[in-house]
Amino acid sequence: MSATSYQSPWVNDEVRSFRTTVRQFIDREFAPHQGRWRQQHRPDAGAWTTAGGAGILLTDVPKEYGGGGGTFAHQAVVLEELAHAGIQFGSSIHSLVAHFILAYGTEAQKRTWLPGMARGTLVGAIAMSEPGAGSDLHGLKTTACRDGDDYVINGSKTFITNGSHARIVCLAAKTDVKAAGPKGISLIIVEAKDLPGYRVGPPLEKVGMHGQDTCELFFDDVRVPASSLLGPAEGRGLFQMMEKMGYERLAIGVAAVATAEQAVAITTKYVKERMAFGKPLIDFQNTRFKLAECRTEARVARVFLDRCIERVLAGQLDDVTTAMAKYWLTDCECRIVDECVQLHGGYGYMADYPIARMWTDSRVHRIYAGTNEILKELIASSL
Ligand SMILES: Cc1cc2nc3c(=O)[nH]c(=O)nc-3n(C[C@H](O)[C@H](O)[C@H](O)COP(=O)(O)OP(=O)(O)OC[C@H]3O[C@@H](n4cnc5c(N)ncnc54)[C@H](O)[C@@H]3O)c2cc1C
Repeated sequence: MSATSYQSPWVNDEVRSFRTTVRQFIDREFAPHQGRWRQQHRPDAGAWTTAGGAGILLTDVPKEYGGGGGTFAHQAVVLEELAHAGIQFGSSIHSLVAHFILAYGTEAQKRTWLPGMARGTLVGAIAMSEPGAGSDLHGLKTTACRDGDDYVINGSKTFITNGSHARIVCLAAKTDVKAAGPKGISLIIVEAKDLPGYRVGPPLEKVGMHGQDTCELFFDDVRVPASSLLGPAEGRGLFQMMEKMGYERLAIGVAAVATAEQAVAITTKYVKERMAFGKPLIDFQNTRFKLAECRTEARVARVFLDRCIERVLAGQLDDVTTAMAKYWLTDCECRIVDECVQLHGGYGYMADYPIARMWTDSRVHRIYAGTNEILKELIASSL
C-alpha cells in the first residue's frame, strides 16, 4: 500500500457511498453560501432543514426516531466532509443534544423531539457554560426551581453554539440550590420557540469560526413543564454530562484530524506553485522537511483516531482514551496548521486564504468541550 492510499478501516462501501452523498451536498448547498454565513455569523436557518432533508442530521440516531439509523462512522463522515470544506455548521452539538435525549429521555420525550431534530426543524444547543462557570460547572448560577407542574428558570449562558437558531436547548441548571457538589445540577430540555422570558443575545464576535452561530442566552422567569427534566430524577445532570461529553470530544478529534490532513494537502499544492529564488518553494529542503513532519504527524493522528472510532463502533471506547484523543489530536492539528500558515508566507495571514481560516477556526478546538488542560487532569486521574 502506498503512503497516499491509506484507508480508514471503519470505512466500508456503504460509508464510502454516504461520503459521496455528503460531499456533493456540502459542495452544492453549503459551500456557495460561506461568505454570507460568515458575515451574518451563522448559517441560514434553511440550511438546517436542507441538511435534514438530505439525511445529514442525526445520522447515528435510530430510524424509529427519525434518524439515519447509522453509526458513529456516518457521523464521522459528515464531520470530516465539513472540515475538509472549511464549513462551520453546528451539527455535532445538534447530534450531542439528540444523544442526551436518546440516553436519558423518556419514550415520549424521544418521540416529541428527535424526529424534528432529524428533519432540521428543531435545532439543538447545549447550554452549560456561564460567564462565571466554564471548566468548573460546580459554579453554575442558573437555577430551575420547581413551582407546581413547572420549572421556573433564571440565569444566563454564554458561548452557546447554535444559540440563535436553537429550539431545543439542553440546559444545565441548579434544581437544588442547597445541595453541595454536583448533586444539585440537572439537565432540562427547554423548547425555546416563543417562550416568554427567554432571550438570545446578538452573535458573539469570535476571532474565528465566523460562520458558526455562537450567542448568549438569557432566562428571566422562564417556565417549562416539569416533564422537561432529562432523566428519572433531579441531580443527575453533571453525571449525564460526564457520560455523554465523550461523544463531542471524539467528534472534535475527527474534525481536528480532517483539518490537519486538509492543511497538509492545500499547503503541498501551494508550495509546488509558489516560486522564490527562481524555484518552487517545495524545492527548498526546509519546506520538504516541514511538510514531511506535518504529514507524518497527521498520519499518526489519523491512525490513533481510527482506532478510537473502531472502538466506539464496538462500544468499547473509554473516557480516558477519548480525552487523550481530543487533547492530543487538537494540539497536533494546531501545530500542523500553524506550520502550514508559515509555509504560505504572508498569504497565510490573509483571511480569504483557506489556511488562514483553518488557523483561526481550529484554535478553539483546544478550548471547548473540556479544555485540553481539564482533559489532562482526567487522564492524570487514571495514572
Ligand atoms: C466558540 C465557542 C463555542 C462554545 N460552545 C459552547 C456550547 O455550545 N455550549 C456550552 O455550554 N459551552 C460552549 N463553549 C464554552 C466552552 O466549553 C468553555 O469556554 C470552556 O469549557 C472553558 O471554560 P471558560 O471559557 O470559562 O474557561 P475557564 O474555565 O475560565 O478556564 C481558563 C483557563 O484555565 C484553565 N483551567 C481551568 N481550570 C483548570 C484546572 N482545574 N486545572 C488546570 N487548568 C485549569 C483552562 O484550561 C483554561 O486554560 C464554547 C466556547 C467557545 C469559545
